[in-house]
Amino acid sequence: MKFVTLLLVICTAMLAIPARAAEPENSSADTVATPKIFINTGFENASPMNWRIDSAGRVIGSMVYDHERFSPNRAVNHYHFRVEAAVGTEVTLILENFDNIWNGMLASDLSEKSRYVVSFDNRKWESRSVVPLPGRRVFIKFKMEAPHAYIASVEPYRISDLDRMLAKIRQSKNASVTTIGKTAEGRSLEIVRIGNENAPKRLFLRARAHAFEAGGNWTVEGLVQKLLSNDEDARRYLKTYCVYILPMANKDGVARGKTRFNANGYDLNRKWDKPADSLIAPENYYLEQWLHRMIRANKKPDLALDIHNDAGGNLHVSRPEGDISAYLSSMEKLEMLLRKHTWFTEGSTKPSFRNPGTLGEGFMARFGIHAAVYELNYEWIAGLKKAPLAADWISLGNNLGEVFYNYFK
Ligand SMILES: [Zn+2]
Repeated sequence: MKFVTLLLVICTAMLAIPARAAEPENSSADTVATPKIFINTGFENASPMNWRIDSAGRVIGSMVYDHERFSPNRAVNHYHFRVEAAVGTEVTLILENFDNIWNGMLASDLSEKSRYVVSFDNRKWESRSVVPLPGRRVFIKFKMEAPHAYIASVEPYRISDLDRMLAKIRQSKNASVTTIGKTAEGRSLEIVRIGNENAPKRLFLRARAHAFEAGGNWTVEGLVQKLLSNDEDARRYLKTYCVYILPMANKDGVARGKTRFNANGYDLNRKWDKPADSLIAPENYYLEQWLHRMIRANKKPDLALDIHNDAGGNLHVSRPEGDISAYLSSMEKLEMLLRKHTWFTEGSTKPSFRNPGTLGEGFMARFGIHAAVYELNYEWIAGLKKAPLAADWISLGNNLGEVFYNYFK
């Protein structure tokens, strides 16, 4: 061996020594056991997460944040996944990454009141308590009652659920479904009409601007069920008003199991104080174009509600500058009717409340439409003293028909 080659070999060997010496005796990669529990996130509305099984056999699930484009905000409120394990297996889940950032500050929606829902057949769900752990983590323990357990933060309402509702509406004589545009990822955006276009009053509802807030969709489902029932009440309602609904504004977020923002990281309940950007927020842009067409056709909605979920459950009455006395008395009437005809008891926001840029304030300030954001508490229904499931929101929707009838009367 020539001297230069020998030197190279020695140098290479020396370089290799420290790296090898730093490795532990038993690399953990060699000792990972095959898990007895599998976490499946490969289905509609399942939320992205990384997971592993720790040495105690617990599943550690790291949620993936949903990020906002124009701010440091990030959110995880939604989780939805399927646990696959033998019947009888005791499953312990520790979910992490609930270090949400809201208005630039560290925030978390986890509390002693936090709940999750579980289903062993993907149809019947029940609500159970979670234990919040230090470090903004969630502790869930349960026994497998079937080989599959669906776990979610809120009873899921998926695009397939929406499609089933749209199919029923399409079969109805007194209703229509119109595609008004596409989401950022190219999914169709539908506006549903129920009732006679020439009815004296018009109502507009939007649901699911924020992807995890399935309560809005279940509520719409309940209202649509009632209005399509063609019973005496429904006929009476539809003599007074016609309903237009954008039932799932953030379809991309719902499809991908995200929490809040659209596919471009845009918050669809922001910047309604100015025209929407067609590229970043097509979901808002197409809604706004539809609204312009309605206004040009002399069919401006008389009332608009944007249905959301939060941990409060208030009717959000935003108070822009100027004379808003007529608007405030409308909202007072709406609140009174909600209390009278539904399980709503949470009340309106305080007189100091203002949230510019929301659909509620934007529709009011720019188009003169009496509008508000209606939040449904996704942890607790005070009026029923229970954690909400889909059936509770459907019953709210069933009774909203009467609320709107009396509102317009
Ligand atoms: Zn929301």
